[in-house]
Amino acid sequence: MSEVFEGSFTQQEPIPEAGIEAAVRVMRHGRLHRYNTVAGEVAETALLEQEFAASVGAKYCLAVASGGYAMSTALRALGVKPGDKVLSNAFTLAPVPGAIASLGAVPVFVGVTEGLTIDLDDLDAKGGQADVLLLSHMRGHICDMDALMAICDRHGIRVVEDCAHTMGAAWNGVPSGRHGVIGCYSCQTYKHVNSGEGGLLVTDDAEVAARAVMLSGSYMLYERHLAAPPPEAFADLRYTTPNISGRMDNLRAAILRPQLADLAKQCERWNARYKTLEDGVRDTPGLRVIERPAPERIVGSSFQFLLLDWDADKVRDVVKRCYARGVELKWFGAPEPVAFTSKYDSWRYAPADAMPATDRVLAGIVDIRVPLTFSLNDCALIARIIRGEVSAVYQAASA
Ligand SMILES: *Cc1c(COP(=O)(O)O)cnc(C)c1O
Repeated sequence: MSEVFEGSFTQQEPIPEAGIEAAVRVMRHGRLHRYNTVAGEVAETALLEQEFAASVGAKYCLAVASGGYAMSTALRALGVKPGDKVLSNAFTLAPVPGAIASLGAVPVFVGVTEGLTIDLDDLDAKGGQADVLLLSHMRGHICDMDALMAICDRHGIRVVEDCAHTMGAAWNGVPSGRHGVIGCYSCQTYKHVNSGEGGLLVTDDAEVAARAVMLSGSYMLYERHLAAPPPEAFADLRYTTPNISGRMDNLRAAILRPQLADLAKQCERWNARYKTLEDGVRDTPGLRVIERPAPERIVGSSFQFLLLDWDADKVRDVVKRCYARGVELKWFGAPEPVAFTSKYDSWRYAPADAMPATDRVLAGIVDIRVPLTFSLNDCALIARIIRGEVSAVYQAASA
């Protein structure tokens, strides 16, 4: 009898009790709107911003309605206009080009390497086309940020980091989101903290921060923030910045604050699971693990491997056979977008030139989610199933 995995790839852990209690307190008093405070009260949202800013060493932080909203707000705060080109990753999730398109701006896709990070040579080649890069640390893979920043500085490109999968991660000791001018994070259920929906934006730039606060819908209540620039920074902006309402509320912030306090511990738990998966599938014939560079401090909340240069039918076969044994693999090479997975040529509002080297990598990327409800034994079992099915298909193909 072959082993079958019976867990759920979409089941996260419950909200910590402290978060549930804090949320109930907010519901009992009823002041869910972030600016709805009584004398002497500091809103949960303002506290969350202050705590998150401190955790990544940022001067300013703004909590918003989603990660996608954080990214579009970041681009607006940098002055991106309709028709402007914005560089971004070809390997990313749909809300990233979507954030660019939401401003009427035009994504210019940069390729992906076999390490699943942005292709720095391609970035250098396309660097003259835009002055903003929306850099997605897709699936938690961080490129050589020192090299990337050198390229961007040379081209005069400002970098916005999409850290939906890298909250808690770092490159060379610098927290992810702190290399560029703005870092954006998601608090959506499948990311590293869970309030259903939600986002955070950090920066050290007072003018950018003030714009973002106004854009998010602060009205003239920005002085109730604890991690926003001083009122002087709003002096002119308050008249010229539209309110594009997308605030976070106190209920979500209440749920998030205890999770933020636990983040480092949770990241270690993710990484133990990641390592079990990695060790379990390493050296499977036909399968390549993604070697993580030493300067990268990862958060292994998902796991990828490459079936590079495989026939599409064989990859499909692996996906099907693993599924039959309870293991849900996501294949980024599928020609049609499926569930959360899509690729640059399915975003037809943003036509791209052909990228054969990128297509080759995308065609081989296989991905699984690693929720913390998986035990280490679960991960070892999942790895055995993947190893078994990949080996079986590979051997049949090469026989
Ligand atoms: C989830 C995700 C986002 C957007 O986050 P939302 O909070 O869902 O808007 C952005 N980028 C990547 C890579 C993501 O996975």
